[in-house]
Amino acid sequence: MIGEKIQYAPNRNGKLISINEAKRGLACNCICPACKSVLIARKGDVRIPHFAHYKNNSCATGYQTSLHLLAKELPASLPAFSASPDITSLIWLPMPFADGII
Ligand SMILES: [Zn+2]
Repeated sequence: MIGEKIQYAPNRNGKLISINEAKRGLACNCICPACKSVLIARKGDVRIPHFAHYKNNSCATGYQTSLHLLAKELPASLPAFSASPDITSLIWLPMPFADGII
């Protein structure tokens, strides 16, 4: 099930990469964000591409920790916005009601 497959993992430089940009196999040079063991990029033709632990199969939190790291990086990738909107650009428009315009 894709919901439990690791799709993002940090490489040895600490950069979080997706399975789509990772090289196949051990060449991905990624480690599990939870247990720090070596990951392998499985990019075959049968199953959906994902990272898997190369030797340690007992790690139960790698997937959740990878999502946590991804969520922490999202705000930096979003466009900047102002927390206080420019109220001078708001225009009051009369609202039509059944009795006329108020
Ligand atoms: Zn792990």
